[in-house]
Amino acid sequence: MFFRITVFLLLVLSAPLGFSSLLPLCSAAPAQLTANRFAIHTDAVSGDKKLRIVLDLTAPLEATANLSGQTLSIDLPGASLSLANRQGPLDGRIALKQTLSTTPTGSRLTITLPEAIESGDFNLFTLPANAAAGKPFRVVLDINEPAQPARSYQFTPGLKGKVIVLDPGHGGSDPGAIGPAAQVMEKDVTLAISLKVKDLLTKAGSNVILTRSDDRDVFGPNASGADELGARAAIGNRNNADVFIDIHANSFRDPSVGGTATYYYGSSSYSRLLAQSVQSAVTASDGLSDRGVYTANFYVLRRTLMPAVLLETAFLTNPSEEALLNNPQFQQKVAQGIVNGITNFFSQAATTGR
Ligand SMILES: [Zn+2]
Repeated sequence: MFFRITVFLLLVLSAPLGFSSLLPLCSAAPAQLTANRFAIHTDAVSGDKKLRIVLDLTAPLEATANLSGQTLSIDLPGASLSLANRQGPLDGRIALKQTLSTTPTGSRLTITLPEAIESGDFNLFTLPANAAAGKPFRVVLDINEPAQPARSYQFTPGLKGKVIVLDPGHGGSDPGAIGPAAQVMEKDVTLAISLKVKDLLTKAGSNVILTRSDDRDVFGPNASGADELGARAAIGNRNNADVFIDIHANSFRDPSVGGTATYYYGSSSYSRLLAQSVQSAVTASDGLSDRGVYTANFYVLRRTLMPAVLLETAFLTNPSEEALLNNPQFQQKVAQGIVNGITNFFSQAATTGR
């Protein structure tokens, strides 16, 4: 019976005219904070991430935000706390931790950030109760992922102890390019080479993480490019990788075109150095023509926070390179070239600095 009345009141409260006349009834039952949760939301189109914190309350209130350097506090006037757990970690990158406390006028959620943000970096809003969906009144705080990574690098020479993420391009529902002469699939070649790189790096003492180690989609079958590539970049970011190597095979309408090329994104001097090191070591090892190093606005390179490159090993549309890509000895040469390139990168990055 009580539930039915509550439903009725909430429905009336959401009507603009009913609100003021019913307000006194509302204040008779002060809001209680009953739940507090957070999650990372990824925009399906832009790939931008935000941390969303949701507070469940038993009655509406007007929340206010107060930003001071690395501390963002949300005041919940008139709200009491019914949560036992009043302190906890957040995602660790966008925000570090949260603390709930009681103030003379109500309750406060205090969020500690890794670095100072601006008022445009967060958004505070409320969502009305929705009895049909079983949802209470909610205060929602979105904090955007910082545009620039907070991490600064101080590289040391050598492969031992380095965290290296390898991304075998395509996989599962996405075969990538398919060679016209022998139907060699890009997804199989990129995986075979990546597994060989992993063996070499692991023997050298690196901590190697593959975005996939068998024939499968990383995000899920037939996912959008942003979801699939975002999931691969996220593996690098989550593991705090030192470098991210994306391995592909090229294709072009002219079957005589061949060779090796490496891409990096933007103005990162470390990514450029990594691209140059990988490109020259791979061409020295596999003997194919050197097509050079290029910048590219590839999604996966844009979303990775560490030095990242995309290697186009050879052309599947070139019949002789298709045969080579399918050959384990050639794959081993490419793998050794990648490892040499990573090794050279760490030596040079350690001496040149940022
Ligand atoms: Zn590809």
